[in-house]
Amino acid sequence: MLELAIIRDGGVLIRDGRVGIVGTSDEIEKNANNAEVVDAGGRVVLPGFVDAHTHLVFAGNRLDDFERRARGETYEQIAKAGGGIWSTVEKTRAASDVDLLAQAKKHAHWFLRCGTTTVEAKSGYGLTLEDELKILRVMRRLNEETPLEIVPTFLGAHAVPREMRVDKYLDLVINDMLPRVASQKLAEFCDVFCEAGYFNVEQSKRILDAARKLGLKLRIHADQLSNSGAAKLAAESKTATADHLEKTGEEGIAALRSAGVQPVLLPGSVYALGSTCYPRAREMIGAGLAVVIATDFNPGSSPTPSMPMILSLACTQMKMSPAQAITASTINAAYSLGRGEKIGSLEPGKLANFSIFDCEDYRELAYWFGVPQAHSVYIKGSRVCYEEGKTSNAQRPTLNVQ
Ligand SMILES: [Zn+2]
Repeated sequence: MLELAIIRDGGVLIRDGRVGIVGTSDEIEKNANNAEVVDAGGRVVLPGFVDAHTHLVFAGNRLDDFERRARGETYEQIAKAGGGIWSTVEKTRAASDVDLLAQAKKHAHWFLRCGTTTVEAKSGYGLTLEDELKILRVMRRLNEETPLEIVPTFLGAHAVPREMRVDKYLDLVINDMLPRVASQKLAEFCDVFCEAGYFNVEQSKRILDAARKLGLKLRIHADQLSNSGAAKLAAESKTATADHLEKTGEEGIAALRSAGVQPVLLPGSVYALGSTCYPRAREMIGAGLAVVIATDFNPGSSPTPSMPMILSLACTQMKMSPAQAITASTINAAYSLGRGEKIGSLEPGKLANFSIFDCEDYRELAYWFGVPQAHSVYIKGSRVCYEEGKTSNAQRPTLNVQ
């Protein structure tokens, strides 16, 4: 994870949206013929960030919760006052497809402005068959109507809806939601929130088993609030990733290692909740795990689309090196989404998804925090963002900035 394979005075030849040749500028120019030249002016060029854990589609925000938390109120007090995940579920259920899509487009644009070109997105704020399908359909349209690539994940098991008992809801997820999601090909992955008070290890296993049978790949929210054995379940179930892992201990790390499960660490939610319990990134890397870092973009616990902010937290709070953080947010993240051969690095044959950052050393991305550094962003060789966030219509003319 420390080897970034940096080419100084480098260049990339792009053909038909893909990387053709990578090398020094001199080499590239010899092969360029009549190609259009984009001069990056000595700036850093990096593969587009791959954000492997977001909750991108929801209605409203959680500003009141935010202010209450700042006043020192607990999660229980906030939930009692009508906040918490339930308030987002109610607003998302009430929202139309059109309204959800408009809000999601605004947020998709934020991701692009931060240099992210692929985003995994989870459903989970509907918690009824129709509302979960609605969210997944919005993701499909987002994929079609913005340049950002969306990898959809079904997270019906995000929480137990208020109006239902957990066993009844499990039946609904397994017997109704999953088959519909799979038959309509609305999701690539299935995720479950494995935690006391949500879905325990046995219930989570039932959902993961059912999803696997339907051909979905698996992810899991594991050990965020307590060491519940979720990391071990991830290993047994051979999920692609185990996400969060704030409370995972040595045994859990060893289990992930032997099963080849990739950890997805989400320092933005630790930070935004005002906690100090970050996952043990260095131990995981030391154990040989291909660690991923992601934003966990969501209205409650991690309202940031900014991968550079996550790079900063990875280095300052989890003591990862800037190079490890770059690897974790690009190529490792791409592999965790089953796209390691297609995106995540600038190599011949891969999609020409990259960003030009207004700095001369890649470490500046993690070092200067709170200032946008993306100069321009390209997807499949077309510029989709430039001059500090203005959006061009280069890729798909329908990108509509709200
Ligand atoms: Zn999450």
